[in-house]
Amino acid sequence: MVRGQANPHVARLRKHIGDVQLTTGDLLDQGSLISAVERVQPDEVYNLGAISYVPMSWQQAELTAEVTGMGVLRMLEAIRVVSGVGQSRTPGPGQIRFYQASSSEMFGMVRETPQNERTPFHPRSPYGVAKTYGHYITQNYRESYGMFAVSGILFNHESPRRGAEFVTRKVSLGVARIKLGLASELRMGNLEARRDWGFAGDYARAMRMMLAQDAPEDYVIGTGRTQSVRDLVELAFATVGLNWRDHVVQDPRFTRPAEVDLLCADPKKAREQLGWEPEVGFEELVAMMVESDLRLLSSSSRP
Ligand code: GDP
Repeated sequence: MVRGQANPHVARLRKHIGDVQLTTGDLLDQGSLISAVERVQPDEVYNLGAISYVPMSWQQAELTAEVTGMGVLRMLEAIRVVSGVGQSRTPGPGQIRFYQASSSEMFGMVRETPQNERTPFHPRSPYGVAKTYGHYITQNYRESYGMFAVSGILFNHESPRRGAEFVTRKVSLGVARIKLGLASELRMGNLEARRDWGFAGDYARAMRMMLAQDAPEDYVIGTGRTQSVRDLVELAFATVGLNWRDHVVQDPRFTRPAEVDLLCADPKKAREQLGWEPEVGFEELVAMMVESDLRLLSSSSRP
């Protein structure tokens, strides 16, 4: 689903995922979602739509609540209305299955480590708060109407397609620029923050597995390992034979009003019930992203 006219992301999407049919709709517009579900008659709906960059959520807190939080309610309502659930029908076999992209940012100031499906939430940004609403409304539609609606609580998942503002891609692009002589320094925020970083391709596989289960349940998806931003930076520079200390400059512009210090998944339920395991490790992921950006920048800087 795409929104707006002449959306510049559409060309990029086609390049990456080839021959897909796009339909229009906007998470801010209930009617457009009902029309989209009516038109497409989907078997499965994956709601990955969100304002997803945490610092932006302080600058546009209300819009984040509308898109990232209320957008989930609107998508669930569209499915409920089109399939007649809660009016004349209860959902049966062949009902539309719904996946909500919940987030480890809901754990925020963590109450226990590692975090599992029963760990209480304590979000630390308007983004985390909005995702928490989306999580609970998905659970509520499952319980209220018997809909097949599940949340995947995904920890940070990265790939060469990650937006340049997120820390992994910022670092892989920065390292590639410095290696190619296009820049000399990389300005960073909090180097002590720790995350459980995995490969997005592995996580997308987990999403599909969740919707293929007999029963709708929520799952935590992560690797169970944690690295600091410092580890990330050190490794990324080392892959091209550079020392991060020669190039990284700390800049308070990139620190946040409230920080999530540590995230680490306990993916036991996913492993045991879905049979899911991540295939790409942290080192391989970082190398993949740095190599991809080296190729990207050396082809675009050639005359
Ligand atoms: P998030 O976990 O969804 O907020 O994903 P990000 O990739 O944006 O940030 C991950 C962590 O890296 C956070 O704890 C940030 O504070 C930290 N970090 C440190 N320096 C930077 C930076 O320059 N940019 C970003 N995006 N994050 C940074």
